[in-house]
Amino acid sequence: MAIKGKFRITCPSCDHEFEVDFWTVVRGDRDLKLKEMLLEGEFDMFMCPLCKKVFLKEETFIYHDRKMDLFIFVLPSAYIAEKDKWIKKMEDDYVLVKKTMNNEFSGKPLILFGSNALRDLLLRDRDIEEETEVLQFMADDLKIKTKPIKAGFARERDFPFIIPYGGDEINHTNILKAVKKIHAANKSLPRLNKFMEFLALKESKKINFLKNENVPAQ
Ligand SMILES: [Zn+2]
Repeated sequence: MAIKGKFRITCPSCDHEFEVDFWTVVRGDRDLKLKEMLLEGEFDMFMCPLCKKVFLKEETFIYHDRKMDLFIFVLPSAYIAEKDKWIKKMEDDYVLVKKTMNNEFSGKPLILFGSNALRDLLLRDRDIEEETEVLQFMADDLKIKTKPIKAGFARERDFPFIIPYGGDEINHTNILKAVKKIHAANKSLPRLNKFMEFLALKESKKINFLKNENVPAQ
C-alpha cells in the first residue's frame, strides 16, 4: 500500500510552519484516490491552516503500478536543473530498492521531474486504455481472442495494451490476420493502425512483446 511520511513545511505567504503528511510511495494499481489526485493535479498542493492559501510543495516520491509496468521516481520539478546528477542518484537508489521489491517489477524504472510530468504520462495511458477498450469490444464482437502486451512496450510505441489474434495459437500470422479483420471493421483506431504498420517490420516476427503473467518477473 501507499507509504506516507511527515514533513514540516513553511507557508510561502505567511511563513507559518506546519506539519503535513506526504506520500512517499504511491501504488497506482491500489491507491485509486491518490491516483485521482495526481490526475487532477492536486497531489502536492497544500493549504496553510493559518492564512488558507493553497501552494505547491514538492517532495520526491515513487509511483509504482505493477499491472501497468510502471516504477517511477518523481522528483521535484526544480531538480531538472541538475538532471544528470539526479538520474545517477536515482539509478543508484534503484539498485537498493530493487532488492526489497520481491520481484515485483522487472522493467526499467523511469525518472520524471514534477508530478505534472507523471500526470501527462497517466493521461496518455488513459487514452491508450480507452482505445484498448474499444479494441476489446470489437474483438469480442468479431469473436477474436486478445492477449495483453507489455505495457512499457505499448507505451513506448503508442500501441494498444492488448493485441488480437485469430485461431488458437498466438503467432505472427494469426496476429496479422486478426488485426486486419478488426481494421476492416473499424479504421479509426490509430494505435491499432500503428501496430499493423509495425507488423510489416522484420523485428515484429520475434513476438517478444507479449505480457506473460505466469512467468515471475526477474
Ligand atoms: Zn499561510
